[in-house]
Amino acid sequence: TVVVVGSANVDLVVDVPRHPGPGETILGGNLRRTPGGKGANQAVAAARAGGADTWFLGALGRDEAADLLLASLTGAGVHTDLVARSAEATGTALIWVTDDGENAIIVAPGANSEVSVDAVAARRLAVADVVLAQLEIPLETVVAAARARRDGARLVLNAAPSRDLPAQLWAEVDILVVNEHEARDLAGRDGSPAQLATALLERVPAVVVTLGGDGALVAERGSEHQSVTAPRVTAVDTTGAGDTFCGVLAAALADGASLAGAARLAAAAGALAVTRPGAQDAVPTATETAHLARE
Ligand code: ADP
Repeated sequence: TVVVVGSANVDLVVDVPRHPGPGETILGGNLRRTPGGKGANQAVAAARAGGADTWFLGALGRDEAADLLLASLTGAGVHTDLVARSAEATGTALIWVTDDGENAIIVAPGANSEVSVDAVAARRLAVADVVLAQLEIPLETVVAAARARRDGARLVLNAAPSRDLPAQLWAEVDILVVNEHEARDLAGRDGSPAQLATALLERVPAVVVTLGGDGALVAERGSEHQSVTAPRVTAVDTTGAGDTFCGVLAAALADGASLAGAARLAAAAGALAVTRPGAQDAVPTATETAHLARE
């Protein structure tokens, strides 16, 4: 099984002709309201990948946004019994997108700042094969979730959004998944993806650097780095590509795949996700991913 520990947000998206200046009001297009948040996105991706049972450990408010997220999670087959309900509003991302595709995003974390590991969650974490976390919730919770896993279960950390990691979290990570920006931030230096991966291997046993249309680089201590190509696709919306990659990677690992094998499936799933609008709505099924990965 996979337990995804993380955030859930409702994404409020509006197209705008340009970014508003300070004190300015501008007219945008129609509002889109879609389920998002790195944790929930990754849980949906893991569940849709099939193979492993997936739990989402997170927190929602008691509002309509929570209903939207629960419908998306359960629709994908994610178990939601570890989702806490908070007096805070469900996390909300305010997103505007200009014609040239440039986003600006403000996240109001709301209930996400209350995600914690209670006794029930700890029991579930103790039987998981893979625990997958990101950094949109309190770092103490990520550390607590990691410590609750059994010997031999792997912690996959998607270190996004970029923030400094405390030593006690570095010590728990089995597989670090980062894009190039996050790899640079965590390595504290510039360099090629291979150089960044090599630098990060000093801190964790395995690193996957995702490279957008160029796929991903898989690095494990004691082996040669391996490149994984992403199938060539026409991108319409890259939102959620990284989250799809992480969720599918975790599900494949729980299902017994090697890291490189899991990354190949994850890269195909990420490529499919960019061909569709939205985050959770863009996550492909296992059949679609397997088909593309075989080509
Ligand atoms: P993030 O969204 O976190 O920055 P990436 O842009 O690296 O992450 O995308 C994650 C994965 O999604 C990539 O490893 C790749 O498999 C897939 N992907 C992203 N953009 C494209 C693209 N333009 N064409 C094909 N695959 C893509």
